[in-house]
Amino acid sequence: MTDRLLHDFAEIASDWFWETDTDHRFCYMSDRLSEVTGLSVESYLGKSRIEFAEGQPDNPKWREHLADLNAHRPFRNLIYSTARPSDGKTVWVNISGQPCFDAEGAFTGYRGTGTNITLEVEARQELEQFNKELQKKNDEILEAQETIQHLAYHDTLTDLANRRLFEMRLQEALARGNTTVAIIHVDLDRFKQINDTLGHAAGDAVLTHAADRMKAVATDAKLIARVGGDEFILLFEGPETGPAWEQIAEDIVASLGEPLEIDGSPVIFGGSAGVAWSSSGSITPQDLVSHADIALYEAKEHGRGRVRTFTPQLHAAMLAKKRLAEEVQRAVSENQITTWFQPQVDARTRTLAGVEALARWNHPTKGILPPFHFLEPAENLGLISRIDAAILEQTLAVATRFADAGHPLPRVSVNISYRRLAEDDLIRDVQRLWTDRRTPLSFELIETILFDDQPGDIISHNLDRLRDLGVELEIDDFGTGHASITGLFHIQPSYLKIDREIVSPILEDPSRKKLVGAVLDIADALGINVVAEGVETLEQADLLESMGCHMLQGYAFAKPMSETDLQRILLRGRRFARAS
Ligand code: C2E
Ligand code: CA
Ligand code: CA
Repeated sequence: MTDRLLHDFAEIASDWFWETDTDHRFCYMSDRLSEVTGLSVESYLGKSRIEFAEGQPDNPKWREHLADLNAHRPFRNLIYSTARPSDGKTVWVNISGQPCFDAEGAFTGYRGTGTNITLEVEARQELEQFNKELQKKNDEILEAQETIQHLAYHDTLTDLANRRLFEMRLQEALARGNTTVAIIHVDLDRFKQINDTLGHAAGDAVLTHAADRMKAVATDAKLIARVGGDEFILLFEGPETGPAWEQIAEDIVASLGEPLEIDGSPVIFGGSAGVAWSSSGSITPQDLVSHADIALYEAKEHGRGRVRTFTPQLHAAMLAKKRLAEEVQRAVSENQITTWFQPQVDARTRTLAGVEALARWNHPTKGILPPFHFLEPAENLGLISRIDAAILEQTLAVATRFADAGHPLPRVSVNISYRRLAEDDLIRDVQRLWTDRRTPLSFELIETILFDDQPGDIISHNLDRLRDLGVELEIDDFGTGHASITGLFHIQPSYLKIDREIVSPILEDPSRKKLVGAVLDIADALGINVVAEGVETLEQADLLESMGCHMLQGYAFAKPMSETDLQRILLRGRRFARAS
């Protein structure tokens, strides 16, 4: 009865029944398994399960199963695979079994069911494979994202951090507020030169070497960033104060100064550094960066290969400079630059021989200021030519007024900067403005233009045109520089002006006196007149006269003065004094 039921059930179920004897050998197997494995029922009978299992029978799963069998314990979900001989396909089965005992309690074997779980296992394996591939894709995406992230925050050439990352890290460091935050701003010296003369490959090599050297020296740096073409910033955090960071900056600059070999030839670059630090945490990132900038600027102002640390005094000086620059800019555009005049005296007759026009700043609050206060910033701002042009225009207007009043000036001399001399406008301005030829016009050129044995084309051209127009040329500050005699031939000046540094001490210092004598000899040989400036006493004046100077200028006779004061002198028709 039981057997019949069992048989019928086995016919309809997808599962199968099995029975084993006391030796765990099959003594019954339903047909269903034959359909699954392709093996006849007979081929199972008398054999043990493990003989059909693929894989190592000594794996833990089987050892556990055999232990269950020996102990006559029930077991569930024994999963293993078996090969189907017909096509070699792997079939997965899931087996559960129950020990059987007779009335006396003696073990008679096992009885149980089996299920074909091949589809399930295959589906799971496919899923696993799919998951694995998905994971791989995911890893690839993450990796790509990391690369993109890295590129977004790093410099491709040196692989250092870029400005964005530096700014983020600096912000974070300052936000923590519990340590000193220091930055060192490094700028390479001569980089542009190397790039221009040796090419971009050499430039790149210099940048990567500079990066490597900084990495080697600044091992404590929280971050090293390349923030511009040849600019780097190092970020530090720690308990140290100023001198420690300055020392690191010095070490960096020293290592950058060592020569580098590119293609077998040495290349010398180097760097300058500005240091700024804050331990209060109350500074903004922008301010700390600008402090390091100021320090770097200051370092570069003092030449190459230097280190400077930011101080409030440095800041104040910088601000004052900036303010002055703005003021000078305004002064020029609002015509606050006016002309004063210093009389020049004929050495022999002691009568007025001419005037030198000197720029003055009519400052809205500080009064009349000499060129010392504005000429250098104007030069740096590229405004010097505009000043020269304004002085020329004002001087010629004054000359016309004096001539109209019946007191023409014997001569007016105007200072011309090197830059102005190189301008195309110069000749056009002279033609336009110097129409009233009652007053002779002279240009004072600084001695340095004599450095050029072969002055530039425009300058040569302008000098020729000026001579053609009848403008006299004077070499100013003669004797202080290293003028070449060939330079004198090129320029063919009408006057040499001996600098006041040589003239003032002429009575006490025999060597200066000798120098004046030598200048007079050269001038005499070339047929050039000599003006002595900075004549402060009448004794000096008399000596210079006796030595053969033609014209004298200095406090001994008159200081620079306004147009009104000059008019007074002219009206009086005054003769200037002599000592004896
Ligand atoms: P510089 O061309 O050598 O002008 C002579 C300077 O010596 C003037 O200074 C004058 O005031 C000063 N000086 C004259 N006599 C004496 C003296 O007896 N003792 C002493 N100690 N100094 C005397 P200032 O006016 O301050 O001008 C300084 C410099 O500024 C000038 O030196 C000139 O190089 C430059 N400069 C003045 N005006 C102009 C201008 O319009 N254009 C350009 N490019 N430079 C100018
Ligand atoms: Ca002068
Ligand atoms: Ca001078």
